Amino acid sequence: MSDIKNYIEENKDRFLDELFDLIRIPSISADPTHIDDMHKTAEAIKKSLIDAGVDKAEICETPTIPVVYAEKIIDEKLPTVLIYGHYDVQPVDPISLWDTDPFEPVIKKTELHPEGAIFGRGSSDDKGQVYMHVKAFEYMVKSNTLPCNVKFMIEGEEEIGSTSLGWYVERNKEKLKNDIILISDTGMISNSQPSITTSLRGIAHVEVEVTGPSRDLHSGLFGGAVANPITVLNKILSKLHNDNNEVTIPGFYNGIKKYTEAERAEIAKAPFVEEDYKKALNIDAVDGEAGYSTIERATIRPTLDVNGIWGGYTGEGSKTIIPSKANAKISMRLVPGQDPAEMTEALSKYLNSLAPDSVKIEVKGNRGGYAYVTPTNNNGYLAASKALKETFGIDSIPTGSGGSIPIVALFEKELGSKSILIGLGLESDAIHSPNEHFGVFNYLKGIETIPYFYKYYVELEK
Ligand SMILES: [Zn+2]
Repeated sequence: MSDIKNYIEENKDRFLDELFDLIRIPSISADPTHIDDMHKTAEAIKKSLIDAGVDKAEICETPTIPVVYAEKIIDEKLPTVLIYGHYDVQPVDPISLWDTDPFEPVIKKTELHPEGAIFGRGSSDDKGQVYMHVKAFEYMVKSNTLPCNVKFMIEGEEEIGSTSLGWYVERNKEKLKNDIILISDTGMISNSQPSITTSLRGIAHVEVEVTGPSRDLHSGLFGGAVANPITVLNKILSKLHNDNNEVTIPGFYNGIKKYTEAERAEIAKAPFVEEDYKKALNIDAVDGEAGYSTIERATIRPTLDVNGIWGGYTGEGSKTIIPSKANAKISMRLVPGQDPAEMTEALSKYLNSLAPDSVKIEVKGNRGGYAYVTPTNNNGYLAASKALKETFGIDSIPTGSGGSIPIVALFEKELGSKSILIGLGLESDAIHSPNEHFGVFNYLKGIETIPYFYKYYVELEK
């Protein structure tokens, strides 16, 4: 394993070029016009796995977007690591805020990445992080140091709620059998302070449509006498939080874990400078639920956000109407103890109860996903922390993430295995935002660290 550094040095231009080719395919799962790109990306991932040395790789059709599966089984008696990741990316709007083409990756230096960062949609979330695993695997195969069996499951719908992955996993339990799942789709504290994500929030979202009159009306002839759906929707949305920024849905906080003072003190130990946080986001003040710190608000507390709102006339000049409809998308981040389906139902009921008789309201919800926690005494966790210590030279810190990878809770339920979240991204990577990027250092460090995870995991499992 000592020559991993040399291997990276000798191959790093190729590692970058190959990742660039993957980023060039605009695999936006949310946009149905990109369906061909989804298939193209799946093909590219499959080919990269074959080139890296898997025994077999296949594109598995699902009712929606395919999953790429691959494996290398060296000995049935040895442990099996399952790598999960996703090849789809978020939409790029607003495109005008990108400094460069999101699908033509370039390397630029930034304050946090003096050695350069790869700018492009998916560079960090998650193509770059998936590709670290492909290249680390390539190294282990070429150097004959692969110590166990490996399976890859790379899906194309993570950004839209893993629509068909549950369907796929239920039907392929035997094939996907593993001892530990390794995922790189999160971040770490900084390039000098590695961390492992030990908890994720769950998620649920709904779409709301408020309908007033059956058509847009003249605001002079009807204004004042007929409810305006945009005004009504805004009133409803403004009632979803109280003055303490607590979510007002009845029962929202029932049954969730209460943290002890000792646990909260542990959370407060993570290196976090509020001034830097505000500076990085270009905000003058933070905001959130009263009585909790910024880290707590963003990781262990459940939240509700309006993600988008639209309706009426938004073109040039004025058009004086009372619009017929107004719409919004709302998401909730959930914590252990909250059931996503129940929360969706509770929000739907609550929205309905807030709507006056002068409008009709329709709420559509999805099933969402559960929150997740990894114990820090698990061999997978221990192996990840030893691997990070090996390559960063410093102990990693367990951290909670406010994000959601709903499929992680599903893996535990269906496959009975824990997931280890070893992410090499940084919060500043601007994932889901314009100018997403991934440090060249982070990409190569990931490739260097992953083979050690395998080595230590197999040693611990013996
Ligand atoms: Zn992701």
